[in-house]
Amino acid sequence: MDKISVVCPCYNEEECLPLFYEETVKALRAFSVPVDYEFIFVDDGSKDNTLPILRELAKQDAHVRYISFSRNFGKEAAIYAGLKAAEGDCVTLMDADLQDPPSFLAPMYDGITKEGYDCVGCRRTTRKSEPKLRSAFAHLFYKLINKVTTTEIVDGARDFRMMTRQMVNAVLSLPEKDRFSKELFSWVGFRTKWLEYENIERAKGTSKWSFRKLTRYAVGGIESATDAPLKINLLFAALFFLAGLVFAVIDIVFAATGTDVSATMILLTVLFVCLSFLFLGIYVVSDYVKKIFTNVKSRPLFIVKETDKDQTDGQN
Ligand code: UDP
Ligand code: MG
Repeated sequence: MDKISVVCPCYNEEECLPLFYEETVKALRAFSVPVDYEFIFVDDGSKDNTLPILRELAKQDAHVRYISFSRNFGKEAAIYAGLKAAEGDCVTLMDADLQDPPSFLAPMYDGITKEGYDCVGCRRTTRKSEPKLRSAFAHLFYKLINKVTTTEIVDGARDFRMMTRQMVNAVLSLPEKDRFSKELFSWVGFRTKWLEYENIERAKGTSKWSFRKLTRYAVGGIESATDAPLKINLLFAALFFLAGLVFAVIDIVFAATGTDVSATMILLTVLFVCLSFLFLGIYVVSDYVKKIFTNVKSRPLFIVKETDKDQTDGQN
């Protein structure tokens, strides 16, 4: 019998937790094939009654385990802690607010066991009931990040997904500290099936993401996923060099035709050329920083999916 781990990061979710637990247990018990399951709740430094509720759930139900952080470390840290603690053959990530419908667990499990996918993820096709400004920024973020990264980050993709043990091990084999899971799930490869659904409002309480937190998440995501912003320096170097060249040609033509070349024109020519060398210098340094960044991230060089040798995970 397969064991399914349900990893659930919680931050001030006292209102949603009992409902989430009840609905998810119901969904897990309704599988057509009986499965064993465990809950890994990660309390991300909640200030409400989340922890006492988790203690109580763990006391009543041996399937429930919890980890409580000493303070709020953020959802990414909670996801990592949960994935590390999970022991199941399949691992599901779910938010505590029932925006990730438990009724999807059965089709997700079928996607893995019957259709041979390594991961079944969910994507929202609409963002209705979300503030318009937030949706607009989210779309812009996905457009931007997909332009500059080689790995695809599907617009509307939730963290809500079920993964095989092999894929979870691959995700955990990426040791970087500054984690942006959506990119990591895509980077490790494997076959993902997408289930689509319309946005569901959170059952109770309010979103735990302030605009500032979301912006930091988006900028951090782009920084972790790509070194493209560094190339801006090369663009500036080229632009200033071009401007310097144009001014130099004008200066020479003026001088050749006996027209007065003003001191400002000469100064601007020198300034543009100097700036272009400056930006070129920064670009060269940033190229080395990029190499350091890649090495510090220490991602494996490849991830093995299958081999005739006795080896299941990706190694360097
Ligand atoms: N969450 C967390 N730490 C945080 C913020 C959120 O563990 O610092 C959890 C939260 O309890 C929920 C999930 O991450 O289970 C998604 O948060 P939320 O529903 O507030 O985000 P939204 O659905 O608005 O994007
Ligand atoms: Mg939510």
